[in-house]
Amino acid sequence: MGEAIPLVDYLVLGNDPHLEANECVACGARFFDRRNACASCGAINSDGSGFKRVELPATGELTAFTIVSFAAPGIEVPFVAGVVKCGGTSVRANIVNVSPDPEHVATGMQVSLTTFGIGEDSEGTEAIGFGYEPADEELRITDDAIEKAEANS
Ligand SMILES: [Zn+2]
Repeated sequence: MGEAIPLVDYLVLGNDPHLEANECVACGARFFDRRNACASCGAINSDGSGFKRVELPATGELTAFTIVSFAAPGIEVPFVAGVVKCGGTSVRANIVNVSPDPEHVATGMQVSLTTFGIGEDSEGTEAIGFGYEPADEELRITDDAIEKAEANS
């Protein structure tokens, strides 16, 4: 098996995958991208010491979502694009392993981080993406459940 690399550098892989944000030392605002200054308080981060890396909890609450029905060719629809509040930080991510309809997705639902392979290059290096799935296992749809439903129909 080849190497696995995270799709975005704020996704930290390993036995316990999680996201890391850059937190402004001056005001506590959090950003996922690298910044030369804080967008919230304006503190300058010229030498890299203006921000510290903080680990986000792997679970959070879905605070907003959209069921996306139309997308560029090659992107499977419908899917759920959401905003998840993890320990005070809002994360934009897709909600995965769930039936993409309003009966199964609701604001306030608890979700947990999950990672998945999104393809590999010719050397076998696999890119790993992330999303959030329902914390309640009963609400999750897994490949196994889909296969079972197809076998029963
Ligand atoms: Zn700041």
